[in-house]
This record gives sequence, C-alpha cells and structure tokens, in this order.
Amino acid sequence: MLLYQSFVTTHVGMKRKVNEDNFCTNRELGLFIVADGMGGHAAGEVASRIAVEEIERVLLQTRDDEDWTWPDSFDMNYSLVANKLKFAINLANEKIHGTTLDRVECRGMGTTIVAAMFLDDVCLIAHVGDSRAYLFRDDKLVALTSDHSWVNEQLKQGFLTLEHARNHPFRNVITQALGGGSEIQVDLMELPLSDRDLLLLCTDGLNSMLTDNEIMNVLRQGEPGSLDHLTTRLIEAANQKGGDDNITVAMVEVFS
Ligand code: CA
Repeated sequence: MLLYQSFVTTHVGMKRKVNEDNFCTNRELGLFIVADGMGGHAAGEVASRIAVEEIERVLLQTRDDEDWTWPDSFDMNYSLVANKLKFAINLANEKIHGTTLDRVECRGMGTTIVAAMFLDDVCLIAHVGDSRAYLFRDDKLVALTSDHSWVNEQLKQGFLTLEHARNHPFRNVITQALGGGSEIQVDLMELPLSDRDLLLLCTDGLNSMLTDNEIMNVLRQGEPGSLDHLTTRLIEAANQKGGDDNITVAMVEVFS
C-alpha cells in the first residue's frame, strides 16, 4: 500500500485584492480539491467555496452507503468511486447555480475545479475548466488534464501555437465551469501510482505565470519531503513573474 504526504497553500498574488481560489484537503477520503472562482464583487470566492465544500460533503455522505441509489446515470467505464466523484461535482454545479438564482450578488458566478482522490495505488483525477493536474515522475513533468478553454481548443485544432496561446487576449476564456446551470463536462482519469510520484494541482495563477518547463525546473530542485518548500518556491516564482492572479498549489507525494 502506498502512503502519501501533502501540502496545500494559496496566495492572493500581486495584483488582486481578493483571493477567489479555494481548496479542500480531506486525508480520510484521500481527497484534494482546488477551485478557481470567478464573478464580480467577490462572488467567485463564494462559488469556489461552495464547490469544494459540496464535493467533500457528498463524498463523505456516500462513502459507506452500500444501498445508496443513483439519482445520476452510472458510467460503466469508471469505478464506483469515480462515479461518486463525478456525481459530487455535478451536485456542486447545481448548488452553485441555485445560489446564483437566489442571491442577486452571486449572479454570473462560477468556478473551475480539479480534484484528486487517492485510493491505495490509484489516483482519480477529475476536472472542469482550466485548473490543472500535473504528474512529476522520473524527473519529468506531464500534464494530466486538458484545459476546457477557448485557446486550448484552438491549440488542439492547430489554429494556435503554444506561444500565441499563452499571450492570446482570450486566454482566460473557459468553455466549462461549475455554476452555469447547464450540463457540465467532467473529465475523469484513473492514474496508477508509483513510488515517488508527485502530483501537483493548481489554479491558472500558477501556470499562466510559469511555463511547464519552469514549473518542472522548480520541482527538480526538491528534496524528498520538501513539499512546503517547493510549494512556496512555485508561488514566489509566479509572483516574481507578475503574480497577475490568485495562485493555489496542492502537492501530494506518494511513497511506499
Ligand atoms: Ca484564476
């Protein structure tokens, strides 16, 4: 059985007054979530907080309930826990949308989400929007998620280069978010874990300031067990590049 240690932190950045990111860690569930809220008058903070709280709540509630009936369609391509995670994200979407209808100051708010759930030697990753999961393994950084964003769609179709995408005026336009009220696309993956794997979850305040190579170079300087130091180094590096946005970084290191 694999063990893991983790460290999560968030920083408002250098330009914003409010931190609209939120995160959740629940070691009992092996659950880590990072959410990046958006919406005027700090409503983004409300959306991202509802998301992390609701997902955690639903997963705790459904964890031990063998007789739990599925109000949602069960996807046979995925495990029971993966289906629960997807279901929890869908409920969070509905709850945020309900709040946008109930509270005038919350109109138009939404949030991205990236969640990792550690189950023995497998990690489930789910995401909606442009918050990311990366795997640092054998000294290399690999992106595990594909942004639900306009520039990423253009990139995948070959209409933009990576360089153009990074500086494009529409780089912040996301195509999927929780809270809009419509059906959301939850991307799921099940990652078999190896000893010394390092999983990184982040909001775009990190990866919009630092390239994947820059993130990888910071991680290469890490010693085993230095997650707090590495997380701080990443946030400092993003802030040195301008810190345009809130930055949240969650790191989980696996060892046997
Ligand atoms: Ca952001």
